[in-house]
Amino acid sequence: MIKFLNLQKINLTHQQEIEETILQTFRSGWYLLGDKVKTFEQELSQYCNVPHAIGVANGLDALRLIFRAYIELGIMKEGDEILVPANTYIASILAITDNKLVPVLVEPDINTYNIDISKIEEKITSKTKALLLVHLYGSIVFSEDIENIAEKHNLKIIEDNAQTIGAVWKNKKSGSLGDAAGFSFYPGKNLGALGDAGAVTCKDQELATCIRTLANYGSQKKYVNQYQGYNSRLDEIQAAVLSVKLKYLGTENNRRKEIAKRYLTEIVNSNIVLPHHKIEENSHVYHLFVIRTENRDQLHKYLEENGIQTLIHYPIPPHHQEAYSDLKELELPITEKIHNEVLSLPISPVMTDDEVSTVIHALNNYQK
Ligand SMILES: *Cc1c(COP(=O)(O)O)cnc(C)c1O
Repeated sequence: MIKFLNLQKINLTHQQEIEETILQTFRSGWYLLGDKVKTFEQELSQYCNVPHAIGVANGLDALRLIFRAYIELGIMKEGDEILVPANTYIASILAITDNKLVPVLVEPDINTYNIDISKIEEKITSKTKALLLVHLYGSIVFSEDIENIAEKHNLKIIEDNAQTIGAVWKNKKSGSLGDAAGFSFYPGKNLGALGDAGAVTCKDQELATCIRTLANYGSQKKYVNQYQGYNSRLDEIQAAVLSVKLKYLGTENNRRKEIAKRYLTEIVNSNIVLPHHKIEENSHVYHLFVIRTENRDQLHKYLEENGIQTLIHYPIPPHHQEAYSDLKELELPITEKIHNEVLSLPISPVMTDDEVSTVIHALNNYQK
């Protein structure tokens, strides 16, 4: 059986270093807001070449803290609109509505699965305050057009970088392209912790301080509370593990790209639509390798029968979720087509060449 993602194998690759750093943290007697977090924050800000990085509890918190901080700083207010792709993971939308901001869903591009840049401007109103760019599946969405639109309409650019750490656009890493970015280190992400973990990166010092304060009960000085904050801290053990794994992220992302290259060149089947991406570009780190096919459930079953596990990212779009019944009347045909047709193939830094060949062979033998 080829697993969709063998997390155990991924983490055991670094067994000795991870066990050592966990043991050391355990023995240090210091578990929160200590040197491990500080070190990881510095490493992350250096890695992304962005002035500030703040460790938080998870990726959803990273995003909702960014919006909350903009509200505290008087830059956004209740009822303001945030443009966001309609086909994102639910967390992007939750971060907006949790702050009583209004998500305005924009259709994706059927070729990239990222927000359709040509459809952004028509959605802008006097209430629009930000663009939440979700780099979906590991692929950066960014362009000079986006920068120009944001500048012209005075919008903040916030990146949902949960799936795309390490990707590069014009020598800049994802997470350094806009004003602020949210990262997730959920175990299955390209840089995965051993539990929940996340981070914010941003350029503005005032925003960074506000986020750090909000994430620690709204307090900078112990028992003095400036905001009605949260408890959303990255713990020392997770930070220690992340520091180990960050060193290998480039190598691991390169292995993902190698596998993607084989999929892109060797899968040949007219029933299957491959991602449109030039492998020479470093703007994709293949968190997921997502194909499309008209009879998705049949292909899923066929692969399962051939010992290959696949997943669907994602089966139900946010506007069809019970949690967002107020959005259910929206007509988003491209989003719906994507959700009906996508299937994610196994991809990970620990997949062997033989396993990749097995997946390719099975797909090439698939008949509708
Ligand atoms: C994983 C993910 C998140 C949320 O991260 P958590 O750490 O699970 O809270 C947000 N946005 C996207 C696009 C994600 O894939």
